[in-house]
Amino acid sequence: MQQGKLIVFSAPSGSGKSTLVGWLMAEHPELKLTFSVSCTTREPRGNEKNGVEYIFLSTEEFKERIASDEFIEYEEVYAGRFYGTLKTQVERQLSAGQNVIFDVDVKGGCNIKKFYGNRALSIFIQPPSVNELRRRLEQRGTDSAEAIQSRIAKAEYEMTFADRFDTVIVNDELTLAQEKVYKTVVNFLNR
Ligand code: ADP
Ligand code: 5GP
Repeated sequence: MQQGKLIVFSAPSGSGKSTLVGWLMAEHPELKLTFSVSCTTREPRGNEKNGVEYIFLSTEEFKERIASDEFIEYEEVYAGRFYGTLKTQVERQLSAGQNVIFDVDVKGGCNIKKFYGNRALSIFIQPPSVNELRRRLEQRGTDSAEAIQSRIAKAEYEMTFADRFDTVIVNDELTLAQEKVYKTVVNFLNR
């Protein structure tokens, strides 16, 4: 069976990355997209199940895997909270002929691209402005005022990574952004 490819999405929180990726996967099953399952040391939230949303590890287990070089990349995305992508996990999904989608922070996005080269496409989803980002986070209603403030502060730093990605897609008008995401991904998969 043909080996799959990798599509990496990174963006400041609130840019609309989950909205766009969710739409792409739901509307285009023919693209054979599957989500990469990362490891994390944070606690499961809500209905999250081990091995589905994430592989949940203790900090000790995570550090053992770092020491034995099992990660393609890992980051301490929040203080004390590690996230990382296992080589074996990705290889299993790729060799099943699936195209693997990643939702990782900006540094992780750059590192996966570096590891896989032309087999990976890295896409940066950019909000039209910081003000619009704030408006979306407020409207989403999932974060406290304090959390929104810290996400905005981080967003300004994350935006400086945009030019290291293969493609930047500005998510202003949603249907236009969906169309761009779809065309970019199809072009890459047919290459
Ligand atoms: P992320 O996954 O990047 O954190 P979300 O996909 O959760 O962002 O989007 C943040 C909020 O903005 C959500 O409430 C979503 O419905 C809304 N949103 C997404 N894209 C657009 C858009 N193009 N225009 C207006 N609102 C949007
Ligand atoms: P959450 O805890 O909300 O699920 O994810 C928090 C952040 O971690 C998000 O920005 C997400 O993109 C990032 N993330 C999830 N998995 C990985 C991973 O394997 N590597 C890196 N570098 N970041 C990740």
